[in-house]
Order: sequence, then C-alpha cells, then structure tokens
Amino acid sequence: MRIFITGGAGFIGSALIRHLIENTNHEVLNFDKLTYAGTLSTVESVADNPRYTFLQGDVCDDYAVTRALGAHSPHVITHLAAESHVDRSIDGPQAFIQTNIVGTFTMLRAAHAYWRTLDDAEKQAFRFHHISTDEVYGSLGAEGLFTEDTPYDPRSPYSASKAGSDHLVRAWGHTYGLPVLVTNCSNNYGPFHFPEKLIPLIIARALSGKPLPVYGRGEQVRDWLYVDDHARALQAVFERGVPLRTYNIGGNNEKQNIEVVRTICSILDRFRPRGDGRSYAEQISFVADRPGHDMRYAIDASRISDELGWEPAETFDTGIEKTVAWYLSNETWWRDIIAKHEADERRGLAA
Ligand code: NAD
Repeated sequence: MRIFITGGAGFIGSALIRHLIENTNHEVLNFDKLTYAGTLSTVESVADNPRYTFLQGDVCDDYAVTRALGAHSPHVITHLAAESHVDRSIDGPQAFIQTNIVGTFTMLRAAHAYWRTLDDAEKQAFRFHHISTDEVYGSLGAEGLFTEDTPYDPRSPYSASKAGSDHLVRAWGHTYGLPVLVTNCSNNYGPFHFPEKLIPLIIARALSGKPLPVYGRGEQVRDWLYVDDHARALQAVFERGVPLRTYNIGGNNEKQNIEVVRTICSILDRFRPRGDGRSYAEQISFVADRPGHDMRYAIDASRISDELGWEPAETFDTGIEKTVAWYLSNETWWRDIIAKHEADERRGLAA
C-alpha cells in the first residue's frame, strides 16, 4: 500500500516510517513541515530506499496537501503531525489550535475530496488514521483505566486541541462516510525522542551535570509505551482496524515520574558512572509543578489486543535500558538539538 504519513520527521512518525520501510513492502510519503520538533536525521537510515519519499509541507496548507495527495494517491493517510509538548501549549497555545485543530480539519477536507475521486472498491479500502493521545480522557485517580468509552475531559491546551481534532475526525466519518480510525496512545519513549520530553531530558541533563527537574513531588503516573511497539500497533490498526472504531494503545507500564527518573539514574550509574563515583540521583531537584498537571493516565488496551492481536513486546525495564543505551551512543544527535533549541530548558510556567 501507499501510506501518506504526516509528521514523519518527528519522534513517533519516524519510528513508524523506519518500521514500515524495514519490515513491510508499503511505500511511504513523509509529509512534514519540519518545525523545531522535526528533523530528517530521524529517517536518515531509510532515506535512500526507493519506497520512501519526503515532501516538506504544512498540514494547514490546503493547496499543498491536495497536490501531495493527488501526486501520491495513497491508500492510507496516517496523520501524526501536531504540536505535541504540553508545556509549550501553556506558554503558546495558538500554534496548537492552528496545527492540531485547523491542520486536522484541512487534512480531512483534502482527504475527503481525494477519496471522492476513488472507485467504490478503493473508497472502501481507504483509511484516514488519526493518531491521538490518552490525555483527551483527562486525569484518573488512584484506580481505574481509560477505555475507548471513557468520556473526554481534556485539561491542557494541548489535550484540548487533540480532543477537538479527534471529534472532527469522527464527524468526517459519520457525516461524510470517510473511513476514519482513531488511536489514543499513552506516553511513548525510545530513540529519537526530542530532548524536551521527560525521559530524554533527564538523560541529557544527567550527562551534562545539570539538575534533574522533577515537577511537584514527582508522583504523577504515566503508562509508558515503547515507540517501536507503538509503530507495530499503528500498522495493525490501519491494516485491519474497523472504520469509525477507536483503539487505545498502552504499554501496561504504569510508573510515577520520580520512579522513571530514579530508574534512569541507576541505569546511567551502571552504564556511565559519574567521575566522582556518586549517583546521578544526587542531581534530582524538585521544582514547581506544571499548572493543571494531570495526576494519572492509564490505558486499558484490551480492545486492540483482543481484536487485532497486538501486544507490546517491551516491558519498561527492557525499553528504558535500550533507550538510555541509544542516547549514550547518539550524543551528537541530542546535543546538537539542545544547543540549537535550548530544548532542555523549563517551559510552561506562563500560566
Ligand atoms: P513530535 O513533536 O516529535 O513530531 C511532530 C512532527 O510533526 C514533527 O516532525 C513536526 O515537524 C511535524 N509538524 C508539526 N506541525 C506540522 C505542520 N503544521 N505540518 C506538517 N508537519 C508538522 O511528536 P510525536 O511525539 O512524534 O507525536 C506524534 C503524534 O502522536 C502527535 O499527533 C501527538 O499528539 C501524538 N501522541 C504523542 C505521544 C507521545 O508520547 N509522544 C503520546 C500520545 C499521542
């Protein structure tokens, strides 16, 4: 199949592209604006493959999207392009409304116009797959899991913009008959994660001898999903998922943020001990909490497991060790990004 991937130079999109090029026969068009969060180094390993093409473009640009769809004639659109950092959404929500809501609307309108040109069999087989987050469901207490039927209750500008885009996607399915799929996943981690996000930020700052900021008391719980497991899940959904259906994707790895930080410190203590023989954990520093910080996210991923046979391969212990090892072997990649974008600085206190 020909797969049109938006946001393929980012963290998850690039993992999906590397997976599809290395493990399937699908052709991929990577349509990405290359914002601060996108870099083609993430897809360098597959860039010369004849089944891979890159096109720089903005999902808010109707003309560019329409032309790209016409030229590529995709069987599937996998829509990942988004502004993705909650802290940035607090300081500057406008870009989130623009890319996540207006951009998704633009993609839907162009996809629908393209879809109408297909014959009946092609129309039936076509999929518009929208990638979203568990953050749209709001915040859990100590008990319970998000299911696909949990009511939406977003609390940050980021999650509200993703919730808005999810509603638009379902509306295009119900109203115009576009065969849409929505997936809501938990926190991803793994190689090529932009170093403003918790796990790569902690690794990078630890190795740079800087304080390791933990928001509040670090008690917030996230369910960690290894990015390559997510890539396989996305493939299963766009190949075999039922249109208009939602699939939650989680890693069965609930951890408090402080546990995540301490785990990274102890792996670094083994892999690259500090020169003074002390633990990286001594760099931990508790800082002001994120405004409106959700307490707990946890996913019930039984639907995708029961219906599509997908299971995560990594536990948090195996995935985090691979991730730390990757950051140790790819220091130039993240050090360049931090130098260019001050990616490891605190954001999100404007509220
Ligand atoms: P990312 O920030 O690493 O990458 C986003 C990519 O989108 C970048 O390559 C960027 O250049 C591109 N992009 C941004 N605006 C664009 C525009 N207007 N037009 C075209 N391209 C544009 O994000 P990610 O972590 O890879 O997340 C991908 C998707 O998955 C997002 O929709 C995000 O909301 C969702 N998601 C991510 C996580 C996570 O843990 N990372 C969890 C749940 C859901």
